[in-house]
Amino acid sequence: MKYLPRVLIVEDEPAIAELIAVNLKHGGFNPVVAYESVAAQRELDAALPDVILLDWMLPGQSGVMLARHWRKQERTKAIPIIMLTARGDETDKVAGLDAGADDYITKPFSTPELLARIRAVLRRRTPESTSDSVVSVGALVLDAATHRTTHQGLELKLGPTEFKLLHYLMTHAERVHSRASLLDKVWGDHVFIEERTVDVHVKRLREALGAASVMVETVRGAGYRLTKAAVAPAAAASSPSQ
Ligand code: CA
Repeated sequence: MKYLPRVLIVEDEPAIAELIAVNLKHGGFNPVVAYESVAAQRELDAALPDVILLDWMLPGQSGVMLARHWRKQERTKAIPIIMLTARGDETDKVAGLDAGADDYITKPFSTPELLARIRAVLRRRTPESTSDSVVSVGALVLDAATHRTTHQGLELKLGPTEFKLLHYLMTHAERVHSRASLLDKVWGDHVFIEERTVDVHVKRLREALGAASVMVETVRGAGYRLTKAAVAPAAAASSPSQ
């Protein structure tokens, strides 16, 4: 029998939860519904889903708090999370992504849009397979097989999207990538994702990189570049030529 990806739907409005579940079942997924955070945790403890659809507004713990919590747990940190929000506010979207969500979708949404986004996060979760799984740029080393990233021998903690983004930048280092091209190459299906999403994940990647964050350069008006020879931008711009 074909494996059906398991989708945990955390949504307190039964009508919406049931509608999503029915549509996911028809779309070739195995949906599981939890109406609040305790039930959601119980489902996670019982079996790990492939994707979590997480409502923003829940009684008790909010969706954002849950996303943050699950991202911190070793067992659940790599599960893609799509936030469901009734609000289209930009600050809400960014807060959701900052809490560790991989994507967000604003209610009301269409079933094809929801299915496309679920498929996109599932594709994104699997990094590009290369014959050589270990790549290094300067003191930065990434192993796609073990999902480990180190800088000067110290392990870095990266979320699943940041890992995929860094993997792409490292395998295509010293080149400038536009936001649109990164969406295409890293996210795979960028039909419903805004270019702002790239900036949010680059910001998170830089935070995770710590001292190595200078290697991720913003190229004004063009995009981003990973470089071994990082030049401090202020010094480069202000120092007069000798
Ligand atoms: Ca709700």
